[in-house]
Amino acid sequence: MENCPFCQIIERKLPATILYEDEDAVAIQDIRPLAPVHLLIIPKKHIDSLNTVAAEDTALIGRLLLIARKLAFEQHIGEPGYRIVINTNRGGGQTVFHLHVHLLGGAPIAPELLVKGLQ
Ligand code: 5GP
Ligand code: ZN
Repeated sequence: MENCPFCQIIERKLPATILYEDEDAVAIQDIRPLAPVHLLIIPKKHIDSLNTVAAEDTALIGRLLLIARKLAFEQHIGEPGYRIVINTNRGGGQTVFHLHVHLLGGAPIAPELLVKGLQ
């Protein structure tokens, strides 16, 4: 989709550090990391947000989570653990409207991160 930064990264029209790719998804380093490990797992199919995921995408959503888990272990944060975040729409803090899963870890969770985006 035009003017979508993640579609452009997938099409190699924008640079990114791509750590994983298969026929359905890519995983990149976040350009403004909030943690020592901060990756984004992104479906190649443009879906605006979790709110517009269709029933036919159910398996794809599951794949994204299993890719996140695999990358967490590759990044050595499977233990002690990590956080998965899907910001959904502006009220949920979403700024890029191409569905993506945040994988965050590598440091203790800051207390304020528990409520980030909710005030
Ligand atoms: P959201 O707030 O939509 O859940 O998360 C969007 C994330 O994408 C943010 O953490 C932001 O830093 C990251 N981001 C935005 N544009 C780019 C980009 O062009 N390249 C990369 N690697 N990350 C991006
Ligand atoms: Zn897109």
